[in-house]
Amino acid sequence: MKTLYRGKIFTFNQQASLQNLQGVIPDALFVNDERFTFLRDGAIIVENGKISAVGDYSEISSLLRAEDKTVDYRGKLIAPGFIDTHIHATQTSSVSAYGEKLLTWLDNYVFPSEVAFNSEQSGRREYDILLKQLFKNGTTSICAYLPTSYDGADLVFEMTDQYNMRVIMGNTIMTDGNAKLITDPQTSMKISEKLYNKWHGVNRSSYALTPRFALSCTDETLGLCREFMESHPDAYVQSHLCENINEIADTVAKFSWAKDYLEVYEKSGLVNARSIYGHCIHLSESEWSRMVEKQAIFANCPVSNNYLGSGLFNYQKAVQLDAKLTLATDWGAGNTLSMLRVMDDAYKVAMLNSFKLETLTRWYSCTLGAAKALGVGQHIGSLEVGKEADFIVFDPAQNELLNYRLESSFDLLDYLFSLSSLGDDRIVAATYVYGNKVHGE
Ligand SMILES: [Zn+2]
Repeated sequence: MKTLYRGKIFTFNQQASLQNLQGVIPDALFVNDERFTFLRDGAIIVENGKISAVGDYSEISSLLRAEDKTVDYRGKLIAPGFIDTHIHATQTSSVSAYGEKLLTWLDNYVFPSEVAFNSEQSGRREYDILLKQLFKNGTTSICAYLPTSYDGADLVFEMTDQYNMRVIMGNTIMTDGNAKLITDPQTSMKISEKLYNKWHGVNRSSYALTPRFALSCTDETLGLCREFMESHPDAYVQSHLCENINEIADTVAKFSWAKDYLEVYEKSGLVNARSIYGHCIHLSESEWSRMVEKQAIFANCPVSNNYLGSGLFNYQKAVQLDAKLTLATDWGAGNTLSMLRVMDDAYKVAMLNSFKLETLTRWYSCTLGAAKALGVGQHIGSLEVGKEADFIVFDPAQNELLNYRLESSFDLLDYLFSLSSLGDDRIVAATYVYGNKVHGE
């Protein structure tokens, strides 16, 4: 059976790129460009979890047969689901711990709280709340740091798999630091191996080797990570890079064999086109060019960076170098799961650096741009024929102020800017994952 969803349609198209969106000024509200489309009375047709048609309602409604279904979202906006490329599944209960910078915040709040998530019972409620909040905010895909234990990490995979979410996740590897949280390196790698074998490439799940950050690793751990990536080259890697000045100083002091922070990961075989690095705020010129040359993925988290006072990411440089830029919440240092709020903070951070990070560029970095960066642009990120049906239904009328503001919206940029500047979870009327409604009436 087919289901047609009718409403305004906004999507990027395959021709869109970080650079070709920056500086584009559409002269109308409704446009159909090779890079993006905004339809006044549009529709998508979903069949077996995938999009089989997209276009003006008047043109594609004739594809329906008598037994097919129509869902009327007229007056609302249908857009691609958000991709959050950096979250911690174990930090919901410690979110909004205040008043500290990165290393103190980790030691005083996060590490003690994460100890609880290594058993199934303590985790289930936390992840259930997290997933529901993600859907409520229109996020349909995540890259996530999971508990350090096999049972804890496996449970999160089980739960996202039940929703058939496209996810990239792994057990957090910590072998140095908080005594109650660390695992010995060999045990960590056995857990990684077992999770990779069970989940990588199964349904919509992918495995990411997840050394928390260099400071939570020993030389032995990094060596084992290198071996793991050599024997599992199709796995992802995720970690943190150059988030905070003290963190960088401690890292280069600990690994004195490396000339800078990035080289700790490079020499461990952890920097390639499937490596997702959180933050990347304080990169040297050399680190910038090596990250781009190796096609590594930037998971920038402006809400978290502002919250912990970590610093201002250089968006201008990312655009100039055509870096694989994605945006993320870094939940729970980021105190929101709303990618609308993340886009808003990205705009402000760029403005503090006297750079205008365009509206289309920011939306792209949360949708198709993120999908392409992660190598899954053929599956998700836009509403195009053949894509998996992950989408959001926005209802701006649920926010009186935004609704009023949009009445005077004269072009697409202004419309999307207002949505990301004034919107929040109230305007997410429904969220669909693989064609199934996971949030909304
Ligand atoms: Zn993080």
